[in-house]
Amino acid sequence: MLADKDRIFTNIYGFHDKSLKGAMARGHWDGTKAIIAQGRDAIIQQVKDSGLRGRGGAGFPTGLKWSFMPKQSDGRPSYLVVNADESEPGTCKDREILRNDPHTLVEGCLIAGCAMGANTGYIYVRGEFIREREALQLAIDEAYEAGFLGKNNKLGWDFDLYVHHGAGAYICGEETALLESLEGKKGQPRLKPPFPANMGLYGCPTTVNNVESIAVVPTILRRGPAWFAGFGKPNNVGTKLFCVSGHVNKPATFEEAMSVPFSELIEKHCGGIRGGKDNLLAVIPGGSSVPLVPAEQIWDAAMDFDTLRALRSGLGTAAVIVLDKSTDVVKAITRISYFYKHESCGQCTPCREGTGWMWRVLTRMSEGRAQKKEIDMLLEVAGQVEGHTICALGDAAAWPVQGLIRHFRHEIEKKIDAYAANPHPDPIRIAAE
Ligand code: SF4
Repeated sequence: MLADKDRIFTNIYGFHDKSLKGAMARGHWDGTKAIIAQGRDAIIQQVKDSGLRGRGGAGFPTGLKWSFMPKQSDGRPSYLVVNADESEPGTCKDREILRNDPHTLVEGCLIAGCAMGANTGYIYVRGEFIREREALQLAIDEAYEAGFLGKNNKLGWDFDLYVHHGAGAYICGEETALLESLEGKKGQPRLKPPFPANMGLYGCPTTVNNVESIAVVPTILRRGPAWFAGFGKPNNVGTKLFCVSGHVNKPATFEEAMSVPFSELIEKHCGGIRGGKDNLLAVIPGGSSVPLVPAEQIWDAAMDFDTLRALRSGLGTAAVIVLDKSTDVVKAITRISYFYKHESCGQCTPCREGTGWMWRVLTRMSEGRAQKKEIDMLLEVAGQVEGHTICALGDAAAWPVQGLIRHFRHEIEKKIDAYAANPHPDPIRIAAE
């Protein structure tokens, strides 16, 4: 288990003082001026050396992303935008940072701003996060008052930081939809290229990063990249906030070393699977959009990007959703499918039409009102949605369906057989359809 001395987030449960004074007592804002004095190239190099990969789901190397920002301005300003629109079902980590440890993020924004030549940062907070926004704003106000932010501040990098409150649409967590929303428009993803590093917020160079990716940076720079790179396996290093929900005895959000075995997450932090290990059915390891992994494959798996990809799933946001054997897995995926149908922004046809089509077919399948040949048809349609849309919501809608058919086709067939043996038509619903 990760030792307390190696935790970056020391107030994730809000047991301690989250004010600037409390944060400083816990080591934050320590030596920030000296870090900034190293200059942007040195900061980016250290973030690269630390092996930090983005914590928002895609796992793109953070230092590399920062290096895409222009070194010389062509007259346009550069912007840092922090994605605090945490909305992926199962994910509940960034909200804990905002609510209980907000100075990690504020300090991270200043340093990241310096590293990418941005004098302005925006934090886009999910619409439902009221207390989180208040706590964050308070931390920013404190930082201004202490002379850590603003023009001619004490720390050596001019930086203004603004909080923007979203209106609660899942799609605004997609970086370009977030930028559109921040500009006051409808939150619909943009076609890429151009990428935000060339043409982002207000047409200016912009980097969008997840809350956790930014909040860990000050500690990495204080303790050194080698310290951070010492956790986990090569290419999957560092510490990570995991959020475990579902059928475990004690659901929790906690910081652990990357690549920790799934069994350790469950046994040491979550009090075990409800009903014992043998009662585990499957796990959705990275937020609702990634394919599920059956019990026998996940138990000893290392929880990291590469291992989970090899299992044809993903670490995503490290939001681990545990399903025990009481779960009707077909119904569970049908419900997830409904979520993506509901959240599709409707711009592209495969997503707009495909998400609804997949949900309707799954609804019938979850009741057994389907034919077995439709399972392959569903798989084919999911394949047509995946990779054929403007943004990743199409993939997010297709992957859970593909995972279900890959591992639990027999459950769908069982329902179809049961229904065929004992049909129970509902005339009112059928008339309505
Ligand atoms: Fe909108 Fe879906 Fe297309 Fe993304 S994939 S742009 S959510 S319609």
